[in-house]
Amino acid sequence: MHYLDNAATSWPKPETVYETMDQGFRQFLSAKRGTSQTSRHGAATLDTARQALADLLNVSNPSRVVFTGGCTQSLNLAIQAFPWKPGDGIVISALEHNAMSRPVRKMVREKQLELHVVPYTDDEPFSLTAYEQLLRTKPNIRLVATMHASNVIGSILPVEEIGRLAKQYGKYYLLDAAQTAGALPVDAKRFNADLIALPAHKSLYGPPGVGALYVGEDVPLQTFMEGGTGGDSGELAVQLVVPDMFEVGTIPMPQIRAMAAGARWVMETGVDTIRRHETRLLQHLLDELKTLPEVIVYGHTDVEQKTPVVSFNLIGQSPKSVGELLFDRYDIALRAGFHCAPMAHQAIGTLPIGGTIRASLGYYTTIEDVDALLEALREITSATHRVGDKDPVITRF
Ligand code: PMP
Repeated sequence: MHYLDNAATSWPKPETVYETMDQGFRQFLSAKRGTSQTSRHGAATLDTARQALADLLNVSNPSRVVFTGGCTQSLNLAIQAFPWKPGDGIVISALEHNAMSRPVRKMVREKQLELHVVPYTDDEPFSLTAYEQLLRTKPNIRLVATMHASNVIGSILPVEEIGRLAKQYGKYYLLDAAQTAGALPVDAKRFNADLIALPAHKSLYGPPGVGALYVGEDVPLQTFMEGGTGGDSGELAVQLVVPDMFEVGTIPMPQIRAMAAGARWVMETGVDTIRRHETRLLQHLLDELKTLPEVIVYGHTDVEQKTPVVSFNLIGQSPKSVGELLFDRYDIALRAGFHCAPMAHQAIGTLPIGGTIRASLGYYTTIEDVDALLEALREITSATHRVGDKDPVITRF
């Protein structure tokens, strides 16, 4: 199989992640809650894992790194535990994933917030002027929230500049680093980020079902879920101490340790080295796609402005059919459709046509994988395989 779906989840994982996961599942018992050795040492093991994430994100105090059940949970925590007042304003970008936009819209409905969406256009993708104008004219805005890079078109947003503006106007700043933590530098200090959400299973090459939320020292998040934290068992309510107040329930030690192993692997390999490999393949893919007249590529085509995520369509052909054909006939795994980001498809105009076909590369992607896709597309778009004429699998729109 040629795996080109790393924006959904990276595959394969480094051996160290598989080993840590396996060993953790066999050996790590209920952390902080029992008398066994691993239980007693659970807190220290967690601290070590927290330190790995703090190093990755350039965070000075590791206890501000909260482990969660994934990036979606981190975003929900940040957005729903924020101390909203009716009439508060929130700013998001026009490309957000449902993991951001749905909890935001829920809060807008329930807390009567004012929602501002900074538009995306081909001419002016991420207007800093629009951010500046909003922040200057709408004093009720309390949170600026943005993804770091689009999971649909790969475009990298100017998160450092947005963070500087948020800081200048005294707003809290939430970053969704789902597509970038491990693939690009994510620096809490440089970005002036108050909250950073990230998953383990994408560019940290860790397992699913675990993630983290960095919570800045001055961010007044309320409790989100009540439950046992191990340390304050005699109390009737969760004690308001970060990170424990957000880590309720039995701690998934194998997953957390494997996430930390992924983060360490990324730092040892080097984010720059990973980026260089991915960018080289991305350049090759974009260069060759340009030579196929029936292929439309969406968003930025300059590799410096992109993560290795390419959304495209074949003129007149349904993305879903092409995606299925690519797997069924050519053994190429990727994703076709809306990628849980309808706002992004609205912005690039692919909402009415069923979205896009998305190829996403990772550190383990090879040139052969990319060439297999290019060869398949050449064949599909060639006269003999003109879709809809001879091929019953594909539907035209
Ligand atoms: N934000 C973005 C930009 C994403 O791409 C994703 C995953 N596709 C998420 C958030 C949610 O991550 P998870 O599914 O791991 O919770």
